[in-house]
Amino acid sequence: MSNPASKKILIVEDEHDILQLVKLYLEKEGFRTLSATTGAEALRQVRHEKPDLVVLDLMLPEISGLEVCKRLRSAPETAMLPIIMLTAKAEESDTIIGLELGADDYVTKPFSPKTLVARIKALFRRFERKADDGQAQYRYGTLVMDLARHEVTVKKVEVPLTAKEFGLLEHLLRSPGRVLTRDLLLNTVWGYDYHGTTRTVDVHIRRLKQKLPSLNEAIVSVKSLGYKLKDP
Ligand code: CA
Repeated sequence: MSNPASKKILIVEDEHDILQLVKLYLEKEGFRTLSATTGAEALRQVRHEKPDLVVLDLMLPEISGLEVCKRLRSAPETAMLPIIMLTAKAEESDTIIGLELGADDYVTKPFSPKTLVARIKALFRRFERKADDGQAQYRYGTLVMDLARHEVTVKKVEVPLTAKEFGLLEHLLRSPGRVLTRDLLLNTVWGYDYHGTTRTVDVHIRRLKQKLPSLNEAIVSVKSLGYKLKDP
């Protein structure tokens, strides 16, 4: 992993003792830290301070950790920000929702700070590997998306897609296993100025599945949230 001092971690936790403990350990490891005790403050800090990773407690006053996670994932600038949730054993169903909403990992309370540090380092390594790939191509089964050529092939036969279909598919291929909300897709593929409704996303996903029958089963809709490409 690159130098921890170049990494800024936002710790979101309303319990003072836990916040201080996590802060202490992360700083001992050389990370720079920021802290927030409410969801609103966390969202503000993310916007202004641009942390490299967020440690997010689920049980927060006012805006819950789940809501914070959902909002971060819905904004294109923070859709890929690494998030580790802190959860209590009793919140197991929330943990599952959190992972569906796009948290990258979770640590159950009470946890040892060493475990948390190890998970944070592992997550940074995972993201650095992704960044190194310089992805010019995505593969999913027999499907290949070539970004430079702006071309999608299945078993080496080209499948013509519209620009929007291509954009949607690119997002899905980039983060398999992760739920992409309709708002995120609308904002990134159509742009903020677009005043369509999230129904537009559904229509285009349907067309994409018709053109790519091999992905029909792999692209799944997740309750009221959005879509996900199953992990291959
Ligand atoms: Ca809490």
